[in-house]
Amino acid sequence: MAEEVKRVFSFGKDENGNNVTEGNTKMKAILGGKGANLAEMANIGLPVPPGFTISCQTCMEYANAGNVWPEGVLDVIEEYREDLERRMGKKIGDAEDPLLVSVRSGAPMSMPGMMDTVLNLGLNDRSINGLIKQTENPRFAWDSYRRFIQMFSNVVMGIDGDLFENAITAMKNARDVKSDTDLSAADLQELVGEFKKIFSANVDPAQYPDLAADGVALFPQDPSIQLKLAIEAVFGSWNNPRATLYRKQNKIADDLGTAVNVQSMAFGNKGDNSATGVAFTRNAATGEKEYYGDYLVNAQGEDVVAGIRNTSPISELKHTPGLEEAGQQLEDIFELLEGHFHDMMDIEFTIEQGKLYMLQTRVGKRTAAAALKIAIDMEKEGLIDKATAVSRVEPEQLDQLLHPQFDKAAKYDILAQGLNASPGAVVGEVVFSSAAAVAAAEEGRKTVLVRWETTPDDLAGMIAAEGILTSHGGKTSHAAVIARGMGAPCVCGVDALHIDAAKKEVVVAGTDVVLHEGDMISIDGTTGHVVLGAVDLVMPELTGDLETMLTWADEIRTLGVRANADNPEDAQLARDFGAEGIGLCRTEHMFLGDRKQLIQQFILNDDEAVREDCIKKLGELQRGDFLGMFKAMDGLPVIVRLLDPPLHEFLESPRELDVQIAHMEEQGAPAEEIAAKRALMEQVDSWAEANPMLGLRGCRLSIVFPQLPVMQVRAIAGAAAELKKQGLDPRPEIMIPLVAFESEIEFLRAKAEELIAQVAEEEGVDLGIEIGTMIELPRAAIIADDIAKHADFFSFGTNDLTQTTLGFSRDDAEAKFLPAYLDQHLLKRNPFATVDDGVAELVKMGCEKGKAANSKLICGVCGEHGGDPESIHKFDKIGPDYVSCSPYRVPLARLAAAQAALEDK
Ligand code: PEP
Ligand code: MG
Repeated sequence: MAEEVKRVFSFGKDENGNNVTEGNTKMKAILGGKGANLAEMANIGLPVPPGFTISCQTCMEYANAGNVWPEGVLDVIEEYREDLERRMGKKIGDAEDPLLVSVRSGAPMSMPGMMDTVLNLGLNDRSINGLIKQTENPRFAWDSYRRFIQMFSNVVMGIDGDLFENAITAMKNARDVKSDTDLSAADLQELVGEFKKIFSANVDPAQYPDLAADGVALFPQDPSIQLKLAIEAVFGSWNNPRATLYRKQNKIADDLGTAVNVQSMAFGNKGDNSATGVAFTRNAATGEKEYYGDYLVNAQGEDVVAGIRNTSPISELKHTPGLEEAGQQLEDIFELLEGHFHDMMDIEFTIEQGKLYMLQTRVGKRTAAAALKIAIDMEKEGLIDKATAVSRVEPEQLDQLLHPQFDKAAKYDILAQGLNASPGAVVGEVVFSSAAAVAAAEEGRKTVLVRWETTPDDLAGMIAAEGILTSHGGKTSHAAVIARGMGAPCVCGVDALHIDAAKKEVVVAGTDVVLHEGDMISIDGTTGHVVLGAVDLVMPELTGDLETMLTWADEIRTLGVRANADNPEDAQLARDFGAEGIGLCRTEHMFLGDRKQLIQQFILNDDEAVREDCIKKLGELQRGDFLGMFKAMDGLPVIVRLLDPPLHEFLESPRELDVQIAHMEEQGAPAEEIAAKRALMEQVDSWAEANPMLGLRGCRLSIVFPQLPVMQVRAIAGAAAELKKQGLDPRPEIMIPLVAFESEIEFLRAKAEELIAQVAEEEGVDLGIEIGTMIELPRAAIIADDIAKHADFFSFGTNDLTQTTLGFSRDDAEAKFLPAYLDQHLLKRNPFATVDDGVAELVKMGCEKGKAANSKLICGVCGEHGGDPESIHKFDKIGPDYVSCSPYRVPLARLAAAQAALEDK
């Protein structure tokens, strides 16, 4: 016979005071976080109201079978219920001294407030009398019963909660009172009757034959039925939309399931020697070593959270008459819990007539600042070592410290939701064009640039605006990449925004809001929220703790961290944040503003002399850019990538030209002007490609337009020579993008070497400039050994490598079809945010083959994945020597790299 799977586990003491707990804190995968820690607290002798936990696996089996109980489990639950009654010396539903239980969810990962809870279970028309006797408080007892019916009806039966609220309001109106607390015991008793009627009117007896009597469903009086239905509801809440969304956002697997904790209720509302509260063993906002939390005398758990009455700070508990002993015991327990769990813990407790009960403990959630302080302090206190301290801070949390945020206390409605493309929050006026953003900035007005999607053309506006909002494009779209690079908040791919830039208005689908230029909006790039009006912002405080933590991380990590930057300011910022060089300088970002005219003339002008002149001028300007970059990164490598995007990106859009021509015609512009515009449009059109991402870009540009790499290589080498002569230590490296064939790199490398040698001779300095390539095409990874013969370094462009490996357009996939894949669990992660296993395999192969062919080859990753903690964990194991990310993500990448190294140990 197959071995019985254990599905139910008791915790707490038996009737003789012996601990009969069957679990412990290591069993979170089975008992959930709450159940495992209730067991652990019971094991270390803390006062835990007895109960039992039904495993997470039972929840999944029940769900996977289409909400059908695995055989025999209901019988086991009955046995545990009877055992609990024995242990407590009370019976559920008893008319003299009833046992009441809470039924709470508790997943392996904390999902606060996402799933269901039922309190006061066991109340019925008999046990209400017992509760009145025990509490000598009929008002409290009737209030508990009406709350139980209300909660059960809403949570378990899915009846609209408003029906009950409306009944309460009607009762208050009838009694001419304002507050629920003004209703008498008799009023509440009458409400119980009303509530039962609402229940019967809204439950289909055919669906619940157990509850049916004379063709009507009655509120269940049998505690076994109450319990069964409540457990089923908690199981079901694992898949409610709120919980599902929370898991998606927090990358929690969908197949973990929730445990159900059935626990005897302790009452904090049995008089002035009773209380209930929540507490943290340290300040969860600042990390200060002080007790942090609130309690209420003579109250139930929800009252603390609901904020109906003013709570008192936990430090006063032991000075409150009747609660002194319990208050002191609680403080002793704080110390004991920290000593046991070696972390800051969050606690729920109840004091029933002077006796303290622990209802929950878990590792406390905390702000980024608190996480740093607590980890560093605990290391100093000897509670944890440095490695543990480093593993205690979520890398993503560090972002909170580097960008403004919506004030947590602010109240606002979300107007639309997009992708959280670049963190931080801003408030500004809506503008629809780069020019409008620049003009507003000149007048000192803050703006949010709202675009269908941005193009390199929008850069000036993106810099001038406080934040960027787009209706299209994913997390590696132009807007997202540039915004992250600049540290500007960005929300992209907001489908609900129907932008009409010509009319200067945005219709927000699903609402009656139409935004116009100048309207104030707030966007939060950390959450993807778009809000109408100005939300208060706060700048989180930076303390020296961040620096301490990152220094510790640096001692541990083996993976290098560089930055993607294309101007001296960003390079300096990256260096300040600890970048060990520039892993990618996208030179196309240096061709904008006034320079765009030069590159446009180079592309469109037929006169060779004009074209040459343009290239010469561009070369001089580029040299100036590189001087600033190399200086900021003196002594550290700066990888400069030769021009990569299709040239038509520098030209005006044919669509816009078409609109301009229509306007000119409408306004009766001279025919020759219209003809000239039309000629320009035709010329621009001739550059258009059906698949620009697979077109004339990357190293293909250097092959078709050799003047471009000549200009760029000379500018790089010239700037390096100039700085060398000033006694500095510039270390530029030249990177050739989008190589597929060995012949491409061989050809372009030879040309670059020739140019570098020329410059070295002209300037009279030694220039050892390394030359490498990006690996962005599957073919390049597959023949990495051949390519490595001609490369000093590889940099994996995982944005393009993801696009080309999966055949997913990086510009469209996230808006068009990826959500469907994610919603239907066809993919667990967005592959443009977290590196896909197939792409990672190519990176691994590329590193292995490349290094085998060229032992000096240095490998890095410069796609957006270089700043994603989960991807960093993967890269740490498969060969790259460093990752490169936007300057603002450098601290996060340092920490993630250290955590990855610790994971290997
Ligand atoms: C990449 O493709 O990963 C990359 C870094 O290059 P870009 O994003 O500029 O195409
Ligand atoms: Mg690329």
